[in-house]
Amino acid sequence: MQREQVIVVKLGTSVLTGGTDKLDKAHMVELVRQCCELKKQGHHVILVSSGAVAAGREQLLKPCGRSLIDKQMLAAIGQGQLIHIWQSLFALYGVNVGQMLLTRADVDDRERYLNARDTLNALLNYDVVPIINENDAVATSEIKVGDNDNLSALVAILANANKLLLLTDQEGLFTSDPRTNADATLIGEVTHINDELRQLAGGSGTNLGTGGMATKLQAADIARRAGVEVIIAKGAGKNVILKCMSDELPGTRFLKLTAPKDGRKKWLLAGPKSTGQIVIDAGAISALQDKGASLLAKGVTNAFGRFERGDLIDLIDTKNQVIARGLTRFSSTEVNKIKGAHSNQIGELLEYDSGAEVLHRDDLVLL
Ligand code: GLU
Repeated sequence: MQREQVIVVKLGTSVLTGGTDKLDKAHMVELVRQCCELKKQGHHVILVSSGAVAAGREQLLKPCGRSLIDKQMLAAIGQGQLIHIWQSLFALYGVNVGQMLLTRADVDDRERYLNARDTLNALLNYDVVPIINENDAVATSEIKVGDNDNLSALVAILANANKLLLLTDQEGLFTSDPRTNADATLIGEVTHINDELRQLAGGSGTNLGTGGMATKLQAADIARRAGVEVIIAKGAGKNVILKCMSDELPGTRFLKLTAPKDGRKKWLLAGPKSTGQIVIDAGAISALQDKGASLLAKGVTNAFGRFERGDLIDLIDTKNQVIARGLTRFSSTEVNKIKGAHSNQIGELLEYDSGAEVLHRDDLVLL
């Protein structure tokens, strides 16, 4: 018997509409049945549900464009309808649902992140199924997560989930595009996410939802670093949710990595937006990756963007690859003054001595 788990189920628009322009309620009932079956087995279920924009379009009965403001208006119309449908379907099984609408701003700020986490946990403790979507009606581009794949990864981190199921209109990740290449084969298990795989994931597949395989891969990468196993599978598949919990795994599975134990490091993974980049040399990369060291000024070759002490920044290599992210102990102006300097020169360069570590080990996560 499996131990009780927290499972985040992400349902894309294409799954909820079955590829049509209307919500497929018959299929939604079927998904609810499976979620309730998991609950009966003692697991906790969280839904990240798209479909607000699609539901809004269905309700409006008038032609409407695809600009950001059109979509925001449609989300305002459709979100109520969407949650109403979920509520009535879960009620068939005597299960309550609770709606949470999030934006990136809710995870960027550590206090709001902790508030969201507490609400999510309280819902789970009361045996309620949280149903989460982006707060599309009010989210401007700066505070938008932008797609529900990445949102579901943040939710999985917030909830300390064991599994994230990204359900979509594809069977999983293929060796090439199965729509154009008959030889494409399904990748059953992914242990490393590299550039080749990112290339395979390509762009967006459907035009109703926002994400595609590329955003699913991003989401899978973030979640597995936080210790969450991720499965991409076809949402229309028979008993797909139940199968994801069995030995008969459908789709593509991404093995989880060892998660940082520190809650603050998990929050860093959940992706507050970075305000700048610090370029580091090969010696610094190896010190970070192999020796678990902090970043010293000596290993810094450049800094981009304007940031202050305590801001979140990305550490990149000379090819623009992100190596780590974390909270800087110096502003961008200071980093530019001390880059490449030996630790004993810092006091002189800045006219005050505040240590040689640009990023302390405790304040960074490797990517
Ligand atoms: N939040 C959008 C909606 O509910 C969907 C975003 C996505 O599919 O990634 O319609």
